[in-house]
Amino acid sequence: MLQQTTVKTVLPYFDRFVALWPDLSALANAALDEVLAAWQGLGYYARAKNLLTCAQAIRDEHGGAFPASAEALRKLPGIGRYTAGAIAAIAFAQREAALDANAARVLARVFALKEGRGPRLEAVAASLVPAGRPGDFAEALMDLGATLCTPRRPRCSLCPWRKGCAATRRGLPESFPAPPAKRQKKERFGVAFWLLREDGALFLRRRPEKGLLPGMIEIPSTAWKSEPWDLEEAKREAPEPVDWFPVEGQVRHAFTHFRLDLRILCGTSESPREGLWSPLAELSRFALPTVMKKIVRHVLEARAEDGKN
Ligand code: SF4
Repeated sequence: MLQQTTVKTVLPYFDRFVALWPDLSALANAALDEVLAAWQGLGYYARAKNLLTCAQAIRDEHGGAFPASAEALRKLPGIGRYTAGAIAAIAFAQREAALDANAARVLARVFALKEGRGPRLEAVAASLVPAGRPGDFAEALMDLGATLCTPRRPRCSLCPWRKGCAATRRGLPESFPAPPAKRQKKERFGVAFWLLREDGALFLRRRPEKGLLPGMIEIPSTAWKSEPWDLEEAKREAPEPVDWFPVEGQVRHAFTHFRLDLRILCGTSESPREGLWSPLAELSRFALPTVMKKIVRHVLEARAEDGKN
C-alpha cells in the first residue's frame, strides 16, 4: 500500500483491510471485486490484484506459509527484488539486502558510485549485510536514507557513517548517485509554406482528425521527418508551384516525444486555390497550435526586419 502513497493516506485503508482479511487465508479466499473495492482511492490497482493473487499462490503452492528465501519470494506475483529482500531479511532474518531508493542512495554516496541502481550497487549492498540482525540492518539503511541522507541537503554532520563516506570526503554528497540521464528527444524536421494571396490573406488548412494536434488549423508544411529537408525537394510538397524563397532562421518547438525544427518558405499565390484563407490581422480567430503561432511570429519578425511590414 505504501508504494507511491503516504503513510497518512494509507493508515485508514490498512486498518480496514486487515479488519476485512485478518490473515493470508482470509485474503486468499476473497473475491477480486471486494479487494478492489477496499483499495478504491489508493490507485495503482495492479497492486491490489497482485496482493490477492500472491495470497492465492502462497495458499496453493506453499501450503499457506510464506517462503523464507528471497529467491522463492521473487517468484510470487507482485514481489520484486527489493520486496523479496526486505521480507527475507526483516521477516525471516535471512542475510539479504533490501535496496529501496533510500538505501541505494546511501550506498551510492558512501562508495561514491555514480549509478543509483544495478548489479554493482546490489553487490555492494549484499557484501555489507551482517549475519546478525540483517532485518535491522535493512531497516536502518532505509531509515538513514529517508531521514538524514536525503536527496537534497543530506545532513552529514549527524550521520553515523560520515567518517567512511566517500561522497562527503569529496565534499559533494548530493552529486551521488548521478541523476538518471534524460532520454534524448527525437529530432524531426519539416518545411512550412507561408503562402499569401495578393490581398495579403494567408493559406491555412485543417489537420487530420487523428494523430498529433488533431483537427487543428495549421500552416501547411511537408511531412516531419527525421532528416533535414533539401529545400528543392521540399518545394515539391508545396501547396502551389510558385516561386518560393526561404525565410532566415528556423522555428523550433518541443512536443512531448520529439523536437521539431521547421524551415519556412514564403510564396505568393498566382491562382488562389479553394480553401481556408485568412487575413493576417484575423489569425487570432483560429485556435492555432503553439508551433503555428511561432511560425507566424517568426515570419512577421523577419518581414519587419526586411522593412516589408
Ligand atoms: S555522510 Fe552524508 S552523504 Fe554520506 S551517508 Fe551520511 S548523510 Fe549520506
